[in-house]
Parts: sequence; structure tokens; C-alpha cells
Amino acid sequence: MDLDSAGAARRLMARLDAFAAFTDEPGKLTRLYLSPSYRAACDQFAKWAQAAGMRVRVDAVGNVRARYEGKTADAPALMIGSHIDTVRDAGRFDGNLGALAALAVVEQLAENGVRLDHAIEVVAIGDEEGVRFSAAMTGSRALAGQLSATAMQAKDGEGVTLDQALTAFGCDPARACACGAKGVAAFVELHIEQGPVLEAKGLALGVVSAINGATRMQMTVNGVAGHAGCVPMQLRRDAVAAAAEMILAIEARAKAEADLVATVGRLEVEPGAINVIPGLARFSLDVRSPGDERRRRAVGDIDAAAAAIAARRNVEMAMQPIHEAAAYVCDARIVAGFDRALTDMGLPAFHLPSGAGHDTMVMGALAPAGMLFVRCAGGISHNPAESITSEDGALALAALTRFAVDFRG
Ligand SMILES: [Zn+2]
Repeated sequence: MDLDSAGAARRLMARLDAFAAFTDEPGKLTRLYLSPSYRAACDQFAKWAQAAGMRVRVDAVGNVRARYEGKTADAPALMIGSHIDTVRDAGRFDGNLGALAALAVVEQLAENGVRLDHAIEVVAIGDEEGVRFSAAMTGSRALAGQLSATAMQAKDGEGVTLDQALTAFGCDPARACACGAKGVAAFVELHIEQGPVLEAKGLALGVVSAINGATRMQMTVNGVAGHAGCVPMQLRRDAVAAAAEMILAIEARAKAEADLVATVGRLEVEPGAINVIPGLARFSLDVRSPGDERRRRAVGDIDAAAAAIAARRNVEMAMQPIHEAAAYVCDARIVAGFDRALTDMGLPAFHLPSGAGHDTMVMGALAPAGMLFVRCAGGISHNPAESITSEDGALALAALTRFAVDFRG
């Protein structure tokens, strides 16, 4: 099938620029879920979808859902999309690229009068980032039929509940927990990588093998505070020196295993004075891996190493779980479909895990799901400096289109 993908890619890149004008904060891109700029972005998205002959509606949680029928009415649908909410002072590609590229896939079909055996449902998802409310992925949770009634009471910084914000937006929150998508054969998402791997490999595109699971822990080390001048080194029970050794052990454990990452991002010291041996150190631990079993084993090893360091240094160590999310292994048929699309285009079918969470991991509960990553400059995201080249944008759209056309439900 010969579609004008070059023209479609140029239009996609121009739209990504135009779409960045929908912002809550002039001079930067901040589009929080259900805000006035989110409304304006939904309206524009819906207008483009209608112009492509799609049936469009905004569902009960503010997702824009547009359907392009297949050869027969009510055919199972390939759902394609990503989120259109952003973080504060965001880049213009995170989420928006996947939503607008999904639209571009259908526009190419419509402009060439092509109907497929399956329908295509394009979705612009609200609230992936979780910036406004104390909950994330509200849009995809609703689509996957996984939204809980308690989530509706999540509040934003002004004390407005999700329930109230949806009502103000013109949605019916009573229907939010029952607006799960029906007849979806699969879900796919195109997204910027948000890491430096593709750039380092010199590749435009990569097929996501899994979305990493995560474990977060609070580590506490209790030693004995004392006078920095009077306690000899041999008699100290220094909580920070012990924590430092533990942090290096964490780094060493993560480095020893491919695709496993561990981060200590926060460290607090008490009493925190220049002339006092620290009696207490508290630090955070974030461990991620594409395999749940591998992640649990790493956390167990870190626990054992930290306990051994604590015993040797005569301090106490405690490890407390804060958060745990399972990994999502992308559906093998979706991965194979993207592999085929890349191979047909003469590109290597390179696989990589996603270190960040995505709507796809939620949508996996609804239907077979998978993702395609596109290289972004310096691996930078959640930052206005986020960028992709037009050439990579064109390759990404061509691969997504090829996947959608060749998809067999
Ligand atoms: Zn994103």
C-alpha cells in the first residue's frame, strides 16, 4: 500500500509545534489534566479527527476517543494513542507525539480511501503524568476498566477532587468507572524513549520489550551521635559513613546486572551539624527491572549487603517498602509486529525495556499491548529541551502506519 507518509510526517511535526501552544502557562508548555488548555487541546484533536472522517467523542474521564471504521461495522479495533497531558514546563513530544501520530496513521488511510479489516480507535489520553491529582494514569485506567471509586476523590493542590474537576469539565464522573473500552483487539503506543540508549546505539527506533517494574524503599540507619572532636575513629558508630558504604553496594549490585537500575535519590542526615558525628541517616531506594523476579532478587541482595555492612559497623539498619509496581512484559505478537515493520523498512529490530511507566502498562490489562520508542536528543525529557529530528519522526510514523496496516486482530 503506497501512502504519502512523507507529507503526513511533515504535517505531524508541524502539528506537534502548533499543539504546544495549548498551555496553562504562557511562555512554557504546561497542560495539566482537565485544565482550560487541556480542553482546548481536546477540541483541536477532535476537530482533526472529525476532518479525517472519524466518529469522535470525549469519554467520562476526558479521553478523546475517535473511531475509524474497518471494512465491516463493529469490527474489532486496534487502539493507538498516548497522553496529551504534560508535566510543568514540559517538552512537546512526550505523549503528544504518540497521540498525534495515531491520528496521522488514520489520516493517511482516509486520504487514500483505505479501509482495513479492523477498525482503528485513536485515543488522546488524559492524566498519564499524574501532576494535578494525587493519582496518575486516570485516563488509561478508565479505558482498561481499572479505575477505582476511591481514585475519584483524589484532590489537586487547590483541594478540588477529580470528581468535581470532571463535572466542571462537562463529564459525568458517575460513569467514569464504567467507561472501559470494548472490542479492543490490541493497544499500541508510540513514545519518545526518554533515555539515551537509542542515541548511543545510533538507532532511530526501538521496540519496547517490557516496561520496568519498580520497588521503592525507605532505608534508615541508626548509629550514635557524638562529638566530632572527642570520639576516636575506632569507637564511632557513624550512620552516614555506613549509609555511604551501603549506597556504593547498591550501585555495585545494579551495575552487575544488565537492564537493572537502582537509585538513591534522597539522603537525610541527623542531627546534620558540622561538628557532630551523624547518629541517623535516612535514604530512599528505587530499583527497576523488566523482570519482577530479578527485581525482587536484587532488592533481597541489597537488603543482605546493607545488613552485613550495618553489623560490621555496629549500627542498625531498617528497610521499609513504600511502593511496588509490577513490570509489564509487552505482548509477544505486538513485539513481533513491530519487529516486522522495522525489518520491512530495512531497520534493525532492536529491543529495549522502558525505564519509565507508560499508559501501555495499564492498557495491557485490557488487551495485548506494546510500544515503539523513537530516539530523543540526549535522552532528555520532561524538559523544554526535549526534541526529535524530523527524519526520526517520519520513520516512527512510517513504522506505526505499517504496523497498523499489517495488524491482524
Ligand atoms: Zn509520556
